[in-house]
Amino acid sequence: MDKRRCPCGKGMMEQKRRAKGVNFRGVEMDVACRAYVCPHCGLESGCVADVHEAQRSIAEAYRAKIGMLTGAEIRTFREERHLSLDALAEQLGVPAEVLQGWEEGTVQAPEMDLRLRKAFGRE
Ligand SMILES: [Zn+2]
Repeated sequence: MDKRRCPCGKGMMEQKRRAKGVNFRGVEMDVACRAYVCPHCGLESGCVADVHEAQRSIAEAYRAKIGMLTGAEIRTFREERHLSLDALAEQLGVPAEVLQGWEEGTVQAPEMDLRLRKAFGRE
């Protein structure tokens, strides 16, 4: 497990999972994130890699909460239909990188969510 020394000098920080209350686009939700916590002085800090994970968690929680397809659902439905990123992207009329972004944590526009649902037969 990845460990870091605390600036207090008393020892190593431990990695902990935290539920963080966030407000994204006006929607309140709890997002799981990782933080480094010092058991000696209580200092808590995130790391760069966690920012990416947190952004992805926020995008997933946000989409689930407002009833949009999540990135995990988009990937699952695409794979169930044996569609490549390129094939589905072409069907939707978007670049493959954009579709990949939705699967990995970018929030799609509502009209794109409808197009995805149509493509998956989940209107
Ligand atoms: Zn400390």
